[in-house]
Order: sequence, then structure tokens, then C-alpha cells
Amino acid sequence: MDESRKISNDMPYEEFKKNGYELIDWIADYLKNIESEPVLTSVNPGEIKDKLNKQPPQKGEDLSKVYKDVDSIIMPGMTHWNHPNFNAYFNSSGSSPGILAELLSAAFNINGMLWKSCPSATELEEVTLNWLKQMLGLPENFFGIIYDGGSSSTLQAMAAARENIDGAEIRIKGATGRSDLNKLRIYTSEHGHSSIDKAAIILGVGIEGIRKIEVNENFEMIPKKLEEAIEEDAKNGWLPFFVTATVGTTSTTAIDPIRQIAEICNNYKIWLHVDGAHGGTAAILPEQKKIIDGIELADSFVVNPHKWMFCPIDLSAFYTKHPETLKRAFSHVAEYLKTEQDNSAINYMDYGIQLGRRFRSLKLWFVIRYFGVEKLQQIIREHLRLGKLFESYIDESEYFEKLAPTPLSTVCFRAVRQNYDEDQLNEFNEKLMNEINSTGKLYISHTKIDDKFTIRYVVSSLRTEVGHVLKAWELIQKKYLELI
Ligand SMILES: *Cc1c(COP(=O)(O)O)cnc(C)c1O
Repeated sequence: MDESRKISNDMPYEEFKKNGYELIDWIADYLKNIESEPVLTSVNPGEIKDKLNKQPPQKGEDLSKVYKDVDSIIMPGMTHWNHPNFNAYFNSSGSSPGILAELLSAAFNINGMLWKSCPSATELEEVTLNWLKQMLGLPENFFGIIYDGGSSSTLQAMAAARENIDGAEIRIKGATGRSDLNKLRIYTSEHGHSSIDKAAIILGVGIEGIRKIEVNENFEMIPKKLEEAIEEDAKNGWLPFFVTATVGTTSTTAIDPIRQIAEICNNYKIWLHVDGAHGGTAAILPEQKKIIDGIELADSFVVNPHKWMFCPIDLSAFYTKHPETLKRAFSHVAEYLKTEQDNSAINYMDYGIQLGRRFRSLKLWFVIRYFGVEKLQQIIREHLRLGKLFESYIDESEYFEKLAPTPLSTVCFRAVRQNYDEDQLNEFNEKLMNEINSTGKLYISHTKIDDKFTIRYVVSSLRTEVGHVLKAWELIQKKYLELI
């Protein structure tokens, strides 16, 4: 054991530098050689646990030993989200400037609950969210705050909307056991994200309080159906208070018509939340601003820079026109948290569940400054082009069919077989996807559309280039031919 450990509780200065440089070298090589790793591991459940010590070490160990175990134990169980052939789910690919910002954030280790608890964290959060607001073309009067994820953002939007119900005084009186309050009702399309359901469960709306609105042939919410549902519910004693429209649904990236939905919401005084967790990022392109047309009529909006803007997980940007309502839903200031700047600065703890808050804005700042808006636009534009390219392969192939339009860069498709019924097709496509994924060369995922097993190929990784798309297509065809 190093003698200096007796002097300092923390790692000594020289040792930190040595370990730090070594780790940076390791990370640089990892990113450089990431394509030589299988994107998806083939380990079985429990395999990683079995290799790890069951008891904590009684005496400290050198980090070099831990690093060795990263190579031999952790790496074999990794799914590499930064891999250029990670085309599953909605990818989150972290960039090098984002990684460095995370390191700095850990080094500062501040808690940004109050302005006073770290003025730079609060003010950098304000400024970077203003930058993002300008990049997306959001209205000037949108107030921004960083949460950990899209699910949190939607939950906090719903809580604010519940607080906003005229005369309900939920903050004071609660939402249960009240004869003076009708049953709460929320709306989203049949393709709305599961986090909306979760938020309804958490906030006492309950699964029965969730109404899913029909979609059209492009999987977009039908505004007329929404209006009919609201009318019908109001007549039957429900209290409609919250609608989520989605810009880029999780299955197919369908874009709900925000403007039309917003007009209905404004008529009935219902809070409109716009979920652009993945798809919202595309609005940094002038030619894609149309996807958030009408956003100025919405009450809140979420986009996740940790999904398609190359910030390491986690960073979700939430915006609302009604910061005072959000504050009413969440602010509860204990005596020991009062400061002399409470009236002159933002205390972000007042606008959400979290008291302790990480310095997340650093990574947004590093990423936007390093790439610049133009380069970020160029990358997103290329992703959209590559999505269309892959779509054209599907369209032109006799072995595959497309199951949804491709408004962004997610292609929904399946293999076709003559004389197969729907069940056989589902089975075949599931098998095909698993065979492809088990090669470790490509990771794709699935959804169900109208009971059809649907394979999704998503281009949104920082490192995906045209060559990767070509290779992916070759592999998909090869595996298909092997299976028939
Ligand atoms: C990913 C996603 C979410 C959830 O975001 P998290 O950050 O994973 O909580 C919500 N809505 C949509 C449309 C998404 O794509």
C-alpha cells in the first residue's frame, strides 16, 4: 500500500494524475476501436455477477486492479451504445466533449439546488437552455429546466397541469376522497410513450384516467377524435386536464399535429405537453421546424439532448410557459434552504422533485460549443438522409416491406414470405432480428404495429456513417437468405 495513503484520505495528487491519464488513454482507445467490439454482448444473466467479488474489500486496492477488471469482467457484459451499428431503440450516443464535461462535473461535485449553492451551475443552466431554445425556435417566454430524463419531464409537466386545474387546489387539498372534484382524465395517442401512463399512475390519475386517442394511417393523433373524447368525457363527469402530443413517437417517430391539437386544448383549457424526447432535436434544422409548428400554443415541451444531441446520458431539457405553476406544484422551502437571493435568482429546486441536482448543463455547454450549431445541424441532416437511404433499400427490395412512413430517421419494416400468415410472419421476423443481433455486428430492436412484429432501424448515433448503413443492409439481407 502506498505510504501517502496515510496522509491524505483522498487519492494523492500524483496518483490521481497517473490514474487519470491512464483512464483518458483507455477511453480514447475505446472510442477509436469501438467498431471492433460486438455492439451487443452474448453473455447470459448472472455471468457478470459470478465473476465479481461477493464481499467488499476490507483494505483499499490500487485502481490499476479495478481497471484490469473493467477489461476482463465489465467489458464482456457491455452493450455499446456508442457503437456506430447501434441502431436499436432510440440511441443515446455520447460525444468526447460530453464525456470530458461529465468528468469536470464529477470533479466539481456541486449541488445546484439553489442559486447560492452554486451560482455558475444555475446560470449556465439558464444560458445553455436559452441557446437550445433559440436552436429549436421555441418561444421566448418558455422557461427551461434540466431534468434527468423524458419520463421525469412528462411527470413534472403533468403535476404542473394538475396544479393548474381551476379551483382544484390540489397542492393544499390533495386529489383523493373529494366529492368536489371530478375524476381526472388525461389524453395521448395510441402511440404515446409509456412514461405518460406511468406519470398518470404516480399522480393519482390511474390507468382508468388515461384515454388513448386513435391515430390515422401515419400513426398521428387524429385531432377530431381528441375533441370528441374530451366532449364525451366532460359530459360523463370526467375532468379533462392534460394532453400529450408527441413529436416522434417511440414506435414509428410519427409527428402529431401540434397546432390543431393545441387549438383544441386551448378551447377546453387543457394543458398541452409536447413530448419531443427523441424527435424534437430534428427541429434544430430550419427545414424541419415544421415538426413543432404550433409549439407557441403548447404549455410545455421536452427534448432529450441525451438522445440525439450527443450529450452522455442523462440530460432532458424541459420547457414551460408557466414557471409559476410549476413552482406552485413543487416548491416547498424548508427554513434551512432560505437564502437572501430567493427573490432575485432562480432556485431550481423549486421547479421539480429533485433537491440535489448535478451540474448537467456543463455537458450541454461543452457539446454545443465544441460542435457549434452548424455542425450539429449537419450531423442531424445526415442522419435524416441515411434514414431515407435505408428506407429506399426497403422500398426497393422484394424481400421486405415498410410498415410505417419515415418522417425522421427511424425505418419500420419486416421481412415478407409468400404463403405465410401473420403469426408465421411474426415468428419469422422475430427470429430474423435475433439472428442479426446475435452476430454482434448490428443491434436493431422491434415494436408491434397493428399486431405485426416490426423491426426498427434507427439512425441517430454520432458515429453512424453511410458505410455502416450499407453494411447493416447487407447483413440483414444475408441473414434473411440464410433463414429461408
Ligand atoms: C425516450 C422517450 C421518452 C422517455 O425518455 P427517458 O429519458 O428515457 O425517460 C419519452 N418519450 C419519448 C417519445 C421517448 O422517445
